[in-house]
Amino acid sequence: MDCDIEKCKSHCCHNCAVLTEGEVSILISNVRKKYLIVLEPRKYFKKVKGELGTYYAIKMIKGQCIFLDKQNRCRIYMCRPTLCELYPVIDIDKVDERCPMANMLPMEMLSGLKRRYAQEIDVNIKAEQTFLFV
Ligand code: SF4
Ligand code: SF4
Repeated sequence: MDCDIEKCKSHCCHNCAVLTEGEVSILISNVRKKYLIVLEPRKYFKKVKGELGTYYAIKMIKGQCIFLDKQNRCRIYMCRPTLCELYPVIDIDKVDERCPMANMLPMEMLSGLKRRYAQEIDVNIKAEQTFLFV
C-alpha cells in the first residue's frame, strides 16, 4: 500500500494486534531469523482473555505498538502479524474508516484482504467481541 505516514502517523499501529500462542511463537522465530533480534515474550506481549480463550496482545507504549519506531515505522515489518498485514480490513466485511487508505484501495485488493481475513485469522479471535488484559 502507498501509505503517507506523515499524514496518518501510522494510525494502524495505535491499536494492539491480538495473536494466538502459536502465532506469537512463529513471529518470535521469524524476527530472530530476519532481524537477528531475540524477542523476550514477556517484554513484548501481554496476555488477554476473551470469552472463547486466552491470547496475546502486542504491548503498547504511550498508546502505540511497542514495535513502532520514532519515525512511525514498524521495526518488524517483514514479520508483522497477519492482522497488521490485512489492515485496514478489521473484520470479514469491515474496514477501519480512520485509515486514509480505507476507501482508496482498488476493489480487487480489498476483496483479497477480506478473503484473507476470513481464511487466515484465528476462528476464535474473529468471533471474540472484547478482550480483557489478564
Ligand atoms: S507490529 Fe508493526 S505493523 Fe503491527 S501494529 Fe506494531 S508497529 Fe504496526
Ligand atoms: S494502513 Fe492506513 S493508517 Fe496504516 S500507515 Fe497505511 S494509511 Fe496509515
